[in-house]
Amino acid sequence: MYHRYHLHTDSAPDVASLPSHLLVRVSKPGLAGFLLREFVHYRGNRTIILNRPCMYGVFSGPVGGFAPREHLCVGCLRCTTQYPDFVSILPNPARSRLGDSYFTADRVDTICYEASSGKIPVKGAGYRGLFGGDGWDGLWTDMSEIVRPTRDGIHGREFISTVIDIGTKPSCLGFTEGQLNSEPPRVFSVPIPVLFDIPPASLLTDTVVRTLAGTAAATETLLVFPIEALQKFAVSGSHIVPLVTGAQAAALEELRFEPAMLEVAEWDQPLLARVQRRFPRSVVCLRMALPSTDALLRAVGSGIRVFHLLADYHGRGNDGRFAIDLFREAHKALVAERCRDQVTIIGGGGIIAAEHVPKAIICGCDGVSLDTPLLVALQAQFVGEAVNRETSSFKLPCGLAVDWGVQRITNLMASWRDQLLEVMGAMGLREVRRMRGEIGRAMFQRDLEKEAFSEIAGYAS
Ligand code: SF4
Repeated sequence: MYHRYHLHTDSAPDVASLPSHLLVRVSKPGLAGFLLREFVHYRGNRTIILNRPCMYGVFSGPVGGFAPREHLCVGCLRCTTQYPDFVSILPNPARSRLGDSYFTADRVDTICYEASSGKIPVKGAGYRGLFGGDGWDGLWTDMSEIVRPTRDGIHGREFISTVIDIGTKPSCLGFTEGQLNSEPPRVFSVPIPVLFDIPPASLLTDTVVRTLAGTAAATETLLVFPIEALQKFAVSGSHIVPLVTGAQAAALEELRFEPAMLEVAEWDQPLLARVQRRFPRSVVCLRMALPSTDALLRAVGSGIRVFHLLADYHGRGNDGRFAIDLFREAHKALVAERCRDQVTIIGGGGIIAAEHVPKAIICGCDGVSLDTPLLVALQAQFVGEAVNRETSSFKLPCGLAVDWGVQRITNLMASWRDQLLEVMGAMGLREVRRMRGEIGRAMFQRDLEKEAFSEIAGYAS
């Protein structure tokens, strides 16, 4: 039965309050002296005296400026401009502890807003940040809704599909006397181009696992999970992708459900054959660290068709290059080998904001896998820099409820899907499958700068 894909959003407020962006420092003697002067000047007119100059209500608490409500401050700087003698606005150093050098405090803020509300974050005052930068910020999507009003983003008047296919798609079918004599397609669909990757070892707790598995089931996507831990956490179902290593191959015999997909942690031909023998109808995916172009082509040559290509949590491959270049390189190598349409690539690592999903797809991924954003949605705190998948450490607030976590990540997915629809609507694309490798819809900052400035003395690419 056809059903239109829909993610149910609901309010799921933060359980741990985030530190405010700014510290509002008011000198109490300075403020008292100022109030005294105003009291005399305005002859005790309380309405004027108590009308402090913050339209956002920072000084409107019970004792006014003596206990400013910092969480309301938006940093307009009116107060410190008008009363520099006793008011100062400072950045809050506590915010630097929210994330790390890649997953910045602003990114954490955005994820928490999306996870608590399910809405798209909109800043009415216009964009005040940089227009380019490192990593994903060096790639701009070409959106021109005014000249391409054919698609209608999130409003749903014209349907835009976010379905992706995962599996093996042969380039043609062969028949002998009406009977199929070639390998049949082995494909299944996921309604959003986003999978959930394994949580780090420090967060493999019952609550986190049940939350991620529950959300994967509710959102009809997949959760990659180590096969040896499946029994311990009692998770099962076609939305679980068991991750198998050579040492854990025996656990295959104990699986009591048929997964839609299994992931193999290393290129091990006997292991791949064993997985395929045990689950002949399941799709087998090979997990590889980036960069992996040579190994990828060899694996394609040996018959593997689905790949999970991973950068570290900061989006860097083993050679230090960023995911944009690595995904493009893998995609272009498959195009050059004329087998791109037969292969599925799931890209992961460093995808921490909604706009990174379409950018990764434009760079050549069919879909993406998420890691740290899921943890941040659950308000996990970074313990130091989180770069390496195996060694990164996080700390969760106490007493998290599974239902709350499921709603938070569902909200996050709803918000990211809406933003994906907006991007596709603005590009005039009606399905995400057509966005894969659609590099004509992207602009690269370094290319544009080179084009514009290369003939100017002093330009360095
Ligand atoms: S900076 Fe602006 S928002 Fe913040 S306290 Fe001062 S007046 Fe209010």
